[in-house]
Amino acid sequence: MCIFCKIVNSELPSNLVKENDDFMAFHDLNPKAPIHILVIPKQHVDSFNEVTPQTMAGMTSFIQEIAEIVGIKESGYRVITNVGDNGGQEVKHLHWHVLGGAKLAWGHFADAESSKFL
Ligand code: AMP
Repeated sequence: MCIFCKIVNSELPSNLVKENDDFMAFHDLNPKAPIHILVIPKQHVDSFNEVTPQTMAGMTSFIQEIAEIVGIKESGYRVITNVGDNGGQEVKHLHWHVLGGAKLAWGHFADAESSKFL
């Protein structure tokens, strides 16, 4: 079972923001912004490649709610899902990073060679 499924099943702890029947939002263990929330579907989906439009619809409104709860709806935030190796996905359970609380930098290449495309 993957680590996010263990969080869903309460086999691992999380710093919960909110959950409903289908989704869960909790603070990232290693935050990359002053506010860094992870939003996941409770049912295991490997990545964005496999997500259904129905799950996307539910996640969209849930993420909007989370942005309001953590107080970044008006100041702005970023929503990211990493997909596969090049996307930098470490946990193979679909999750959305919701980042805010400060002005965020932009630019995502991991090495100097790729940065020539910037
Ligand atoms: P990604 O690289 O997109 O797969 O992101 C995985 C994220 O999960 C990283 O930002 C980690 O800091 C975070 N993470 C890993 N384990 C946990 C955990 N047990 N609780 C909260 N966040 C976690």
